[in-house]
Amino acid sequence: MTDGRTHLAQRIARLGTETAFAVSAEAAAWQEKGNRVYPFHLGDMDLPTPQNIVDAAMKAIADGKTGYCPNAGIMPLREALAADVSASHGVNYGPENVAVQPGGKPVIGKFLLTLMDPGDEVLYPNPGFPIYESQIEFLGGVAKPYGFVPGETDFLLDFDAIEAAITPRTKLLIFNNQHNPTGAESPDTEIETLAELARNHDLYVLSDEAYWDIRYSGRSRSIASLPDMQERTVILYTFSKKYAMTGWRLGAAIGPQEIITHVATLNVNQESCTTHFIQYAGVEALTGDQSGAKKILGILKDRRDVAVRLLNDIPGVSCYAPEATFYLFPDMTELMERKGYDTYDELRRAVLEQTGVSFCTRLHFGRELPGETRRYGRFAYSGIPVADIEEGLGKLKAWAEQ
Ligand code: PLP
Repeated sequence: MTDGRTHLAQRIARLGTETAFAVSAEAAAWQEKGNRVYPFHLGDMDLPTPQNIVDAAMKAIADGKTGYCPNAGIMPLREALAADVSASHGVNYGPENVAVQPGGKPVIGKFLLTLMDPGDEVLYPNPGFPIYESQIEFLGGVAKPYGFVPGETDFLLDFDAIEAAITPRTKLLIFNNQHNPTGAESPDTEIETLAELARNHDLYVLSDEAYWDIRYSGRSRSIASLPDMQERTVILYTFSKKYAMTGWRLGAAIGPQEIITHVATLNVNQESCTTHFIQYAGVEALTGDQSGAKKILGILKDRRDVAVRLLNDIPGVSCYAPEATFYLFPDMTELMERKGYDTYDELRRAVLEQTGVSFCTRLHFGRELPGETRRYGRFAYSGIPVADIEEGLGKLKAWAEQ
């Protein structure tokens, strides 16, 4: 910076971040001072990647799969992904519909780069994964949030907000069923209504399916499998959650060939290819023994059951029991009022310092929307074992009762 001028590009001022990482840093600092911390804040996992997947990666390195590989991914992985998603979605994809990515997250920016011009409006969930808003605004789009309303057993999409937000400039819709941070899932009627909106307004859809397989009962359903939707939907696929592979960075964009071709050219421009040997681990994950993924899901379900029960036991807190994701989004309005905290950060810091329980709040998932009166926390149980859930939430309860 010289004489008040900045050399940074203007767009940098519009780049957001994941503020949950700041909560993580605060929790780590608190722990370093010798305090006990119960980590409910970050959606990372404390579970190991299944051994058969690890072995496949080691073998691929030993076999010399260490050079560049095709930009859209190795053919066996693209074929395995096409087969897997075709079967689970009841649609028909081939390898030409798949561009392998270093994680699920890059699909968000590449979808927008391929389909959004500056000034185009994009509907996205808020609360929601913060990277949607960051990337829309960074790339010059107009971010139009839609929220959720509390239903009887789950959060419901706020269709009034969605319809009110649609204008002639609306081009894209981001939909995250099995939703972070609420854990909400749309009933069939909601998905059908969304698909109808997309067809009527000629919207292309990013279907963020990061938690598609993290589910404890029932089945996941994709907007891509509704009539005429496959041709206007890009699926964000990731290995991160199902196979406890968050740090491996492996995912894919799956969608119409005329879009995926450009996503693959973005791969050429940005990272050349996803790490070659990691892709062989992905092939093993999809086509090999599935007992590791099953075990992960069993552990998560036990944690969910305990966490939901104990959160609902805390005076002033109430929480749905989502059948998918590893997130809970308890309503903490009464607790905040009773304890006399006005802001989310005051509550969060007091809880951390007085109980060791570290969690995110609604504000880590977007700005509050007009008319929002209830106050929510987000508790992830992907990185904390049952015994610690019990101990931590027990302390939170005792604190709430004081
Ligand atoms: N989409 C949602 C809703 C997420 O919660 C996450 C990660 O937490 C991602 C995408 C990104 O996944 P990945 O870690 O595979 O990049």
